Amino acid sequence: MSQPNFYESVSASISKAASLSDIPKGLLSQIKVTNAIYKMSFPVKVGKGYEVITAYRAQHSHHRLPTKGGIRFSPHVHQDEVMALASLMTFKCALVDVPFGGAKGGIRINPKNYTEKELERITRRYTAELIRKNFIGPGIDVPAPDMGTGPREMAWILDTYTSMNHGEIDATACVTGKPVTQYGINGRNEATGRGVYYGLREALSYEDDMKAIGLTPGMEGKTIALQGLGNVGSFAGSICQNEGGAKIVAVAEYEGSIYNPDGIDIDKLLKHRKAKGTIMTFPGVKKLKKNDDALYVDCDILIPAALESVIHKGNANKIKAKMIGEAANGPVTFEGEKILLKKGVMIIPDFFLNAGGVTVSYFEWLKNLSHLRFGRMEKRFDTRAYDKLVDFVLKATGGTISKREREFLTKGADEIDLVRSGLEETMISAYKDIRSMWKRRSKVEDLRTAAFLVSLNKIANDYISMGIFP
Ligand code: NAD
Repeated sequence: MSQPNFYESVSASISKAASLSDIPKGLLSQIKVTNAIYKMSFPVKVGKGYEVITAYRAQHSHHRLPTKGGIRFSPHVHQDEVMALASLMTFKCALVDVPFGGAKGGIRINPKNYTEKELERITRRYTAELIRKNFIGPGIDVPAPDMGTGPREMAWILDTYTSMNHGEIDATACVTGKPVTQYGINGRNEATGRGVYYGLREALSYEDDMKAIGLTPGMEGKTIALQGLGNVGSFAGSICQNEGGAKIVAVAEYEGSIYNPDGIDIDKLLKHRKAKGTIMTFPGVKKLKKNDDALYVDCDILIPAALESVIHKGNANKIKAKMIGEAANGPVTFEGEKILLKKGVMIIPDFFLNAGGVTVSYFEWLKNLSHLRFGRMEKRFDTRAYDKLVDFVLKATGGTISKREREFLTKGADEIDLVRSGLEETMISAYKDIRSMWKRRSKVEDLRTAAFLVSLNKIANDYISMGIFP
Protein backbone atom coordinates (compact mmCIF):
# COMPACT_ATOMS: atom_id res chain seq x y z
CA MET A 1 0.00 0.00 0.00
CA SER A 2 1.39 3.44 -0.89
CA GLN A 3 2.03 6.09 1.80
CA PRO A 4 -0.64 8.83 2.11
CA ASN A 5 0.61 12.13 0.67
CA PHE A 6 1.33 15.15 2.84
CA TYR A 7 -2.15 16.67 2.37
CA GLU A 8 -3.86 13.37 3.31
CA SER A 9 -1.56 13.04 6.29
CA VAL A 10 -2.40 16.55 7.61
CA SER A 11 -6.13 15.96 6.93
CA ALA A 12 -5.99 12.66 8.85
CA SER A 13 -4.45 14.41 11.88
CA ILE A 14 -7.10 17.15 11.78
CA SER A 15 -9.88 14.53 11.51
CA LYS A 16 -8.44 12.59 14.46
CA ALA A 17 -8.68 15.73 16.62
CA ALA A 18 -12.05 16.75 15.17
CA SER A 19 -13.54 13.38 16.15
CA LEU A 20 -12.89 14.34 19.80
CA SER A 21 -14.52 17.77 19.51
CA ASP A 22 -18.17 18.71 19.66
CA ILE A 23 -17.94 21.19 16.78
CA PRO A 24 -20.95 20.75 14.42
CA LYS A 25 -20.23 18.85 11.18
CA GLY A 26 -20.99 21.75 8.81
CA LEU A 27 -18.69 24.08 10.68
CA LEU A 28 -15.95 21.45 10.72
CA SER A 29 -16.20 21.07 6.94
CA GLN A 30 -15.85 24.83 6.56
CA ILE A 31 -12.81 24.89 8.86
CA LYS A 32 -11.10 22.08 6.92
CA VAL A 33 -11.65 23.28 3.35
CA THR A 34 -9.21 25.47 1.35
CA ASN A 35 -11.07 28.73 0.67
CA ALA A 36 -9.17 29.85 -2.44
CA ILE A 37 -6.32 28.63 -4.59
CA TYR A 38 -4.60 30.33 -7.50
CA LYS A 39 -2.50 28.22 -9.82
CA MET A 40 -0.49 30.20 -12.34
CA SER A 41 1.91 29.58 -15.21
CA PHE A 42 4.04 32.37 -16.62
CA PRO A 43 7.03 32.69 -18.92
CA VAL A 44 10.35 33.99 -17.60
CA LYS A 45 13.55 34.71 -19.53
CA VAL A 46 16.09 32.13 -18.39
CA GLY A 47 19.53 31.91 -19.99
CA LYS A 48 19.09 32.55 -23.70
CA GLY A 49 15.50 31.34 -23.87
CA TYR A 50 12.24 31.32 -21.94
CA GLU A 51 10.90 28.91 -19.36
CA VAL A 52 7.29 28.44 -18.28
CA ILE A 53 7.13 28.51 -14.49
CA THR A 54 4.34 26.90 -12.46
CA ALA A 55 3.40 28.48 -9.14
CA TYR A 56 0.63 28.54 -6.53
CA ARG A 57 -0.87 30.57 -3.75
CA ALA A 58 -3.40 28.88 -1.49
CA GLN A 59 -5.50 30.77 1.05
CA HIS A 60 -6.81 28.15 3.40
CA SER A 61 -9.05 30.22 5.66
CA HIS A 62 -10.60 33.66 5.34
CA HIS A 63 -12.13 33.60 8.83
CA ARG A 64 -9.48 36.15 9.76
CA LEU A 65 -7.78 38.54 7.40
CA PRO A 66 -5.18 39.00 6.13
CA THR A 67 -4.17 35.44 5.37
CA LYS A 68 -0.55 34.66 6.07
CA GLY A 69 2.06 32.11 5.08
CA GLY A 70 5.43 31.61 3.46
CA ILE A 71 6.51 31.23 -0.13
CA ARG A 72 8.53 28.15 -0.99
CA PHE A 73 10.91 27.66 -3.91
CA SER A 74 11.29 23.92 -4.45
CA PRO A 75 11.12 21.46 -7.35
CA HIS A 76 8.60 19.41 -5.31
CA VAL A 77 5.98 22.19 -5.04
CA HIS A 78 2.52 21.01 -6.07
CA GLN A 79 -1.06 21.91 -5.29
CA ASP A 80 -1.61 19.34 -2.52
CA GLU A 81 1.57 20.38 -0.74
CA VAL A 82 0.67 24.09 -0.83
CA MET A 83 -2.85 23.30 0.42
CA ALA A 84 -1.52 21.18 3.29
CA LEU A 85 0.95 23.90 4.31
CA ALA A 86 -1.74 26.60 4.08
CA SER A 87 -4.06 24.64 6.36
CA LEU A 88 -1.24 24.13 8.88
CA MET A 89 -0.81 27.94 8.85
CA THR A 90 -4.46 28.45 9.87
CA PHE A 91 -4.05 26.14 12.85
CA LYS A 92 -0.66 27.62 13.69
CA CYS A 93 -1.97 31.20 13.74
CA ALA A 94 -4.94 30.22 15.92
CA LEU A 95 -2.68 28.32 18.33
CA VAL A 96 -0.35 31.26 18.96
CA ASP A 97 -3.08 33.93 18.88
CA VAL A 98 -1.90 35.57 15.68
CA PRO A 99 -5.08 37.05 14.14
CA PHE A 100 -4.60 35.78 10.58
CA GLY A 101 -6.01 33.06 8.36
CA GLY A 102 -3.57 30.55 6.87
CA ALA A 103 -2.02 30.70 3.41
CA LYS A 104 1.01 29.34 1.55
CA GLY A 105 2.68 29.92 -1.77
CA GLY A 106 5.09 27.93 -3.84
CA ILE A 107 7.06 28.22 -7.05
CA ARG A 108 8.10 24.93 -8.65
CA ILE A 109 11.79 25.60 -9.23
CA ASN A 110 15.07 24.44 -7.79
CA PRO A 111 16.59 27.80 -6.82
CA LYS A 112 20.09 26.30 -7.14
CA ASN A 113 19.57 26.09 -10.94
CA TYR A 114 19.01 29.83 -11.48
CA THR A 115 21.14 32.95 -11.33
CA GLU A 116 20.27 35.73 -8.91
CA LYS A 117 18.91 37.87 -11.78
CA GLU A 118 16.69 34.99 -12.95
CA LEU A 119 15.39 34.38 -9.42
CA GLU A 120 14.61 38.08 -9.16
CA ARG A 121 12.65 38.00 -12.44
CA ILE A 122 10.72 34.90 -11.29
CA THR A 123 9.89 36.44 -7.88
CA ARG A 124 8.81 39.77 -9.36
CA ARG A 125 6.63 38.11 -12.01
CA TYR A 126 5.02 35.88 -9.35
CA THR A 127 4.28 38.98 -7.25
CA ALA A 128 2.77 40.77 -10.25
CA GLU A 129 0.47 37.76 -10.80
CA LEU A 130 -0.61 37.88 -7.15
CA ILE A 131 -1.33 41.63 -7.43
CA ARG A 132 -3.37 41.10 -10.61
CA LYS A 133 -5.63 38.57 -8.89
CA ASN A 134 -5.82 40.53 -5.61
CA PHE A 135 -3.93 37.74 -3.80
CA ILE A 136 -1.51 40.03 -1.93
CA GLY A 137 -1.85 43.14 0.24
CA PRO A 138 -1.48 44.24 3.89
CA GLY A 139 -5.14 43.44 4.60
CA ILE A 140 -5.53 40.62 2.05
CA ASP A 141 -2.68 38.11 2.07
CA VAL A 142 0.84 38.65 3.43
CA PRO A 143 3.61 36.26 2.29
CA ALA A 144 6.82 35.48 4.20
CA PRO A 145 9.94 33.32 3.70
CA ASP A 146 9.87 29.53 3.63
CA MET A 147 12.09 26.82 2.18
CA GLY A 148 14.37 28.26 -0.52
CA THR A 149 13.47 31.91 0.14
CA GLY A 150 14.65 34.57 2.58
CA PRO A 151 14.90 38.34 3.15
CA ARG A 152 16.26 38.94 -0.37
CA GLU A 153 13.16 37.49 -2.05
CA MET A 154 10.89 39.36 0.38
CA ALA A 155 12.63 42.65 -0.58
CA TRP A 156 11.88 41.92 -4.28
CA ILE A 157 8.22 41.25 -3.40
CA LEU A 158 8.04 44.50 -1.41
CA ASP A 159 9.59 46.53 -4.21
CA THR A 160 7.28 45.04 -6.86
CA TYR A 161 4.21 45.60 -4.68
CA THR A 162 5.05 49.18 -3.67
CA SER A 163 5.94 50.19 -7.23
CA MET A 164 2.54 48.94 -8.41
CA ASN A 165 0.62 50.45 -5.47
CA HIS A 166 2.07 53.92 -5.36
CA GLY A 167 0.86 55.98 -2.39
CA GLU A 168 -0.65 53.09 -0.41
CA ILE A 169 0.36 54.15 3.09
CA ASP A 170 0.55 50.66 4.59
CA ALA A 171 2.16 49.02 1.55
CA THR A 172 5.26 47.88 3.46
CA ALA A 173 3.04 45.47 5.42
CA CYS A 174 2.33 43.49 2.20
CA VAL A 175 5.07 40.97 3.06
CA THR A 176 7.11 40.03 6.16
CA GLY A 177 10.58 38.60 6.68
CA LYS A 178 12.02 41.64 4.88
CA PRO A 179 15.59 42.82 5.51
CA VAL A 180 15.74 45.09 8.58
CA THR A 181 16.86 47.95 6.31
CA GLN A 182 13.76 47.41 4.13
CA TYR A 183 11.02 47.79 6.76
CA GLY A 184 11.81 44.42 8.39
CA ILE A 185 12.10 43.75 12.10
CA ASN A 186 15.10 42.77 14.22
CA GLY A 187 14.88 39.10 15.17
CA ARG A 188 12.73 37.82 12.25
CA ASN A 189 15.56 35.90 10.61
CA GLU A 190 16.26 33.84 13.75
CA ALA A 191 12.61 33.72 14.86
CA THR A 192 11.58 30.23 13.76
CA GLY A 193 14.76 28.62 15.10
CA ARG A 194 14.59 30.61 18.33
CA GLY A 195 10.94 29.60 18.72
CA VAL A 196 11.99 25.95 18.31
CA TYR A 197 14.40 26.46 21.21
CA TYR A 198 11.79 28.14 23.45
CA GLY A 199 9.23 25.44 22.60
CA LEU A 200 11.58 22.53 23.30
CA ARG A 201 12.89 24.15 26.48
CA GLU A 202 9.32 24.47 27.74
CA ALA A 203 8.41 20.87 26.83
CA LEU A 204 11.58 19.63 28.55
CA SER A 205 10.81 21.53 31.75
CA TYR A 206 8.00 19.23 33.00
CA GLU A 207 9.49 16.58 35.26
CA ASP A 208 6.56 14.11 34.98
CA ASP A 209 6.49 14.24 31.18
CA MET A 210 10.25 13.74 30.97
CA LYS A 211 10.18 10.85 33.44
CA ALA A 212 7.57 9.14 31.26
CA ILE A 213 9.94 9.13 28.27
CA GLY A 214 13.09 8.39 30.25
CA LEU A 215 14.67 11.84 30.21
CA THR A 216 15.70 14.20 32.98
CA PRO A 217 14.14 17.67 32.85
CA GLY A 218 15.94 20.57 31.16
CA MET A 219 17.85 21.02 27.91
CA GLU A 220 21.33 21.17 29.43
CA GLY A 221 23.42 18.20 28.22
CA LYS A 222 20.70 16.71 25.99
CA THR A 223 21.96 15.12 22.77
CA ILE A 224 20.38 16.30 19.53
CA ALA A 225 20.35 15.00 15.95
CA LEU A 226 19.54 17.74 13.46
CA GLN A 227 18.34 17.45 9.87
CA GLY A 228 18.74 20.58 7.73
CA LEU A 229 21.02 23.59 8.20
CA GLY A 230 18.84 26.16 6.46
CA ASN A 231 17.19 29.12 8.13
CA VAL A 232 15.27 27.09 10.72
CA GLY A 233 17.81 24.33 11.41
CA SER A 234 20.85 26.57 11.72
CA PHE A 235 19.30 28.95 14.27
CA ALA A 236 17.53 26.13 16.16
CA GLY A 237 20.78 24.15 16.43
CA SER A 238 22.92 27.10 17.36
CA ILE A 239 20.54 28.47 20.01
CA CYS A 240 19.86 25.03 21.56
CA GLN A 241 23.65 24.57 21.80
CA ASN A 242 24.64 28.07 22.97
CA GLU A 243 21.69 29.05 25.18
CA GLY A 244 20.27 25.65 26.10
CA GLY A 245 23.57 23.81 26.66
CA ALA A 246 22.52 20.93 24.38
CA LYS A 247 25.03 18.80 22.44
CA ILE A 248 24.49 18.34 18.70
CA VAL A 249 25.72 14.81 17.93
CA ALA A 250 24.55 14.32 14.34
CA VAL A 251 23.76 16.59 11.40
CA ALA A 252 22.15 15.74 8.07
CA GLU A 253 22.25 17.97 5.03
CA TYR A 254 21.54 17.61 1.35
CA GLU A 255 25.10 16.36 0.69
CA GLY A 256 25.26 13.72 3.46
CA SER A 257 25.34 13.25 7.21
CA ILE A 258 27.93 13.34 9.99
CA TYR A 259 28.16 12.08 13.57
CA ASN A 260 30.21 12.71 16.68
CA PRO A 261 28.94 11.43 20.07
CA ASP A 262 31.13 14.04 21.81
CA GLY A 263 29.35 16.90 20.03
CA ILE A 264 29.66 18.91 16.83
CA ASP A 265 30.16 22.65 17.27
CA ILE A 266 27.28 23.89 15.16
CA ASP A 267 28.60 27.44 14.67
CA LYS A 268 31.95 26.12 13.40
CA LEU A 269 30.10 23.65 11.16
CA LEU A 270 27.98 26.45 9.66
CA LYS A 271 31.11 28.50 8.93
CA HIS A 272 32.77 25.42 7.41
CA ARG A 273 29.78 24.70 5.14
CA LYS A 274 29.66 28.33 4.02
CA ALA A 275 33.33 28.25 3.07
CA LYS A 276 33.56 24.71 1.60
CA GLY A 277 29.99 24.11 0.42
CA THR A 278 29.65 20.83 2.36
CA ILE A 279 29.49 19.40 5.87
CA MET A 280 31.28 16.21 4.79
CA THR A 281 34.80 17.64 5.13
CA PHE A 282 34.25 18.96 8.67
CA PRO A 283 37.13 17.68 10.85
CA GLY A 284 36.72 15.20 13.71
CA VAL A 285 33.41 13.63 12.69
CA LYS A 286 32.35 10.24 11.37
CA LYS A 287 30.77 10.33 7.89
CA LEU A 288 27.56 8.32 7.81
CA LYS A 289 26.67 6.22 4.77
CA LYS A 290 23.39 7.88 3.74
CA ASN A 291 22.11 11.37 4.36
CA ASP A 292 19.13 10.18 6.40
CA ASP A 293 21.34 8.00 8.66
CA ALA A 294 21.56 10.95 11.07
CA LEU A 295 17.88 10.39 11.87
CA TYR A 296 18.62 6.99 13.38
CA VAL A 297 21.53 7.75 15.73
CA ASP A 298 21.35 7.36 19.51
CA CYS A 299 20.19 10.72 20.87
CA ASP A 300 17.65 12.33 23.19
CA ILE A 301 16.02 14.71 20.71
CA LEU A 302 15.66 14.52 16.94
CA ILE A 303 15.02 17.84 15.18
CA PRO A 304 13.97 17.41 11.54
CA ALA A 305 14.29 20.94 10.09
CA ALA A 306 14.32 20.35 6.34
CA LEU A 307 11.60 18.47 4.49
CA GLU A 308 8.17 16.95 5.01
CA SER A 309 7.40 13.20 5.32
CA VAL A 310 10.98 12.20 6.20
CA ILE A 311 9.80 9.94 9.03
CA HIS A 312 7.18 7.48 7.85
CA LYS A 313 5.80 3.97 8.22
CA GLY A 314 8.92 2.56 6.56
CA ASN A 315 11.53 4.03 8.92
CA ALA A 316 9.75 5.12 12.15
CA ASN A 317 10.89 1.96 13.92
CA LYS A 318 14.53 2.89 13.37
CA ILE A 319 14.24 6.17 15.33
CA LYS A 320 16.06 5.99 18.68
CA ALA A 321 15.33 9.55 19.92
CA LYS A 322 12.94 9.89 22.85
CA MET A 323 11.59 13.22 21.66
CA ILE A 324 11.04 14.59 18.16
CA GLY A 325 10.93 18.37 17.77
CA GLU A 326 9.22 19.03 14.46
CA ALA A 327 10.97 22.19 13.31
CA ALA A 328 10.03 21.52 9.65
CA ASN A 329 6.42 21.35 8.52
CA GLY A 330 5.07 17.82 8.36
CA PRO A 331 8.30 15.82 8.86
CA VAL A 332 6.40 12.88 10.43
CA THR A 333 3.57 11.25 8.47
CA PHE A 334 0.30 10.20 10.11
CA GLU A 335 1.25 6.51 9.82
CA GLY A 336 4.80 7.15 11.02
CA GLU A 337 3.43 8.93 14.06
CA LYS A 338 1.27 5.93 15.04
CA ILE A 339 4.42 3.77 15.26
CA LEU A 340 6.37 6.41 17.19
CA LEU A 341 3.57 6.95 19.70
CA LYS A 342 3.38 3.20 20.31
CA LYS A 343 7.13 3.24 20.98
CA GLY A 344 6.53 6.01 23.56
CA VAL A 345 8.26 8.80 21.60
CA MET A 346 7.08 12.30 22.48
CA ILE A 347 6.41 14.42 19.38
CA ILE A 348 6.34 18.21 19.68
CA PRO A 349 4.12 19.12 16.72
CA ASP A 350 5.23 21.32 13.83
CA PHE A 351 2.47 23.91 13.85
CA PHE A 352 3.35 24.72 17.45
CA LEU A 353 7.12 24.31 17.38
CA ASN A 354 7.83 26.35 14.24
CA ALA A 355 5.26 29.07 15.00
CA GLY A 356 8.04 31.52 15.98
CA GLY A 357 8.32 32.66 12.36
CA VAL A 358 4.71 33.70 11.98
CA THR A 359 4.68 35.20 15.48
CA VAL A 360 7.53 37.58 14.69
CA SER A 361 6.07 38.17 11.21
CA TYR A 362 2.97 39.40 13.04
CA PHE A 363 5.16 41.78 15.06
CA GLU A 364 6.74 42.99 11.80
CA TRP A 365 3.30 43.56 10.25
CA LEU A 366 2.23 45.54 13.33
CA LYS A 367 5.45 47.60 13.14
CA ASN A 368 4.76 48.38 9.47
CA LEU A 369 1.15 49.39 10.17
CA SER A 370 2.13 51.56 13.12
CA HIS A 371 5.07 53.08 11.19
CA LEU A 372 7.04 52.95 14.43
CA ARG A 373 9.99 50.89 15.64
CA PHE A 374 9.28 48.88 18.80
CA GLY A 375 10.96 50.45 21.83
CA ARG A 376 11.35 53.90 20.29
CA MET A 377 8.84 55.61 22.56
CA GLU A 378 9.66 54.01 25.90
CA LYS A 379 13.36 53.05 25.87
CA ARG A 380 14.78 56.31 27.29
CA PHE A 381 11.83 56.81 29.63
CA ASP A 382 12.40 53.34 31.10
CA THR A 383 16.16 53.90 31.36
CA ARG A 384 15.59 57.11 33.33
CA ALA A 385 13.02 55.47 35.64
CA TYR A 386 15.35 52.48 36.33
CA ASP A 387 18.23 54.93 36.97
CA LYS A 388 16.17 56.72 39.61
CA LEU A 389 15.24 53.39 41.20
CA VAL A 390 18.90 52.29 41.34
CA ASP A 391 19.89 55.68 42.84
CA PHE A 392 17.17 55.30 45.45
CA VAL A 393 18.27 51.76 46.43
CA LEU A 394 21.97 52.75 46.56
CA LYS A 395 21.17 55.77 48.70
CA ALA A 396 19.01 53.72 51.06
CA THR A 397 21.57 50.89 51.40
CA GLY A 398 24.78 52.88 51.08
CA GLY A 399 25.95 50.42 48.39
CA THR A 400 27.86 51.03 45.16
CA ILE A 401 27.80 49.39 41.72
CA SER A 402 30.06 49.54 38.66
CA LYS A 403 29.18 51.44 35.46
CA ARG A 404 28.61 48.11 33.66
CA GLU A 405 26.28 46.84 36.37
CA ARG A 406 24.33 50.11 36.23
CA GLU A 407 24.01 49.87 32.47
CA PHE A 408 22.77 46.29 32.76
CA LEU A 409 20.17 47.19 35.41
CA THR A 410 18.87 50.34 33.78
CA LYS A 411 18.84 49.43 30.08
CA GLY A 412 15.50 50.16 28.41
CA ALA A 413 14.32 47.53 25.92
CA ASP A 414 15.42 47.67 22.28
CA GLU A 415 13.37 46.22 19.45
CA ILE A 416 15.25 42.90 19.58
CA ASP A 417 14.64 42.56 23.34
CA LEU A 418 10.92 43.15 22.89
CA VAL A 419 10.66 40.79 19.91
CA ARG A 420 12.43 37.98 21.78
CA SER A 421 10.35 38.59 24.88
CA GLY A 422 7.10 38.51 22.87
CA LEU A 423 8.22 35.34 21.11
CA GLU A 424 9.24 33.61 24.34
CA GLU A 425 5.92 34.45 26.00
CA THR A 426 4.00 33.23 22.93
CA MET A 427 5.78 29.86 22.80
CA ILE A 428 5.50 29.24 26.54
CA SER A 429 1.81 30.07 26.78
CA ALA A 430 0.91 28.10 23.63
CA TYR A 431 2.70 25.03 25.02
CA LYS A 432 0.86 25.38 28.32
CA ASP A 433 -2.48 25.46 26.42
CA ILE A 434 -1.56 22.33 24.45
CA ARG A 435 -0.26 20.48 27.49
CA SER A 436 -3.28 21.29 29.58
CA MET A 437 -5.59 19.97 26.78
CA TRP A 438 -3.43 16.81 26.63
CA LYS A 439 -3.54 16.24 30.40
CA ARG A 440 -7.19 17.22 30.85
CA ARG A 441 -8.75 14.97 28.20
CA SER A 442 -8.04 11.28 28.66
CA LYS A 443 -8.88 10.48 25.01
CA VAL A 444 -6.29 12.98 23.79
CA GLU A 445 -3.28 10.71 23.65
CA ASP A 446 -0.72 12.95 21.96
CA LEU A 447 0.39 16.57 21.72
CA ARG A 448 -0.51 16.99 18.03
CA THR A 449 -4.14 16.03 18.66
CA ALA A 450 -4.19 18.34 21.69
CA ALA A 451 -2.77 21.22 19.64
CA PHE A 452 -5.30 20.70 16.84
CA LEU A 453 -8.11 20.65 19.41
CA VAL A 454 -6.95 23.95 20.97
CA SER A 455 -6.85 25.57 17.50
CA LEU A 456 -10.11 24.00 16.30
CA ASN A 457 -11.95 25.40 19.31
CA LYS A 458 -10.54 28.89 18.73
CA ILE A 459 -11.38 28.87 15.00
CA ALA A 460 -14.88 27.51 15.66
CA ASN A 461 -15.48 30.28 18.21
CA ASP A 462 -14.36 32.86 15.63
CA TYR A 463 -16.91 31.57 13.11
CA ILE A 464 -19.64 31.43 15.74
CA SER A 465 -18.91 34.94 17.03
CA MET A 466 -19.05 36.27 13.45
CA GLY A 467 -22.60 34.90 13.29
CA ILE A 468 -21.73 32.68 10.33
CA PHE A 469 -22.60 29.49 12.19
CA PRO A 470 -25.18 29.24 14.97
P1 NAD B 1 15.79 26.48 3.94
O1 NAD B 1 15.62 26.37 2.48
O2 NAD B 1 16.43 27.68 4.51
O3 NAD B 1 16.57 25.20 4.51
C1 NAD B 1 16.27 23.87 4.21
C2 NAD B 1 17.57 23.10 4.35
O4 NAD B 1 17.29 21.70 4.21
C3 NAD B 1 18.60 23.47 3.27
O5 NAD B 1 19.83 23.77 3.88
C4 NAD B 1 18.66 22.20 2.42
O6 NAD B 1 19.94 22.00 1.81
C5 NAD B 1 18.35 21.13 3.44
N1 NAD B 1 17.93 19.86 2.83
C6 NAD B 1 17.30 19.67 1.66
N2 NAD B 1 17.15 18.35 1.43
C7 NAD B 1 17.70 17.71 2.48
C8 NAD B 1 17.86 16.34 2.82
N3 NAD B 1 17.40 15.38 2.03
N4 NAD B 1 18.47 16.05 4.00
C9 NAD B 1 18.92 17.01 4.80
N5 NAD B 1 18.81 18.33 4.53
C10 NAD B 1 18.20 18.67 3.39
O7 NAD B 1 14.33 26.26 4.55
P2 NAD B 1 13.79 26.70 5.97
O8 NAD B 1 13.16 28.04 5.82
O9 NAD B 1 14.82 26.46 7.00
O10 NAD B 1 12.59 25.66 6.15
C11 NAD B 1 12.79 24.34 6.63
C12 NAD B 1 11.47 23.78 7.10
O11 NAD B 1 10.93 24.64 8.11
C13 NAD B 1 10.38 23.70 6.03
O12 NAD B 1 9.55 22.59 6.31
C14 NAD B 1 9.59 24.97 6.22
O13 NAD B 1 8.27 24.88 5.73
C15 NAD B 1 9.63 25.08 7.73
N6 NAD B 1 9.39 26.44 8.25
C16 NAD B 1 10.16 27.49 7.89
C17 NAD B 1 9.90 28.75 8.45
C18 NAD B 1 10.76 29.96 8.16
O14 NAD B 1 10.57 30.99 8.82
N7 NAD B 1 11.71 29.90 7.27
C19 NAD B 1 8.83 28.92 9.34
C20 NAD B 1 8.07 27.81 9.70
C21 NAD B 1 8.36 26.57 9.15
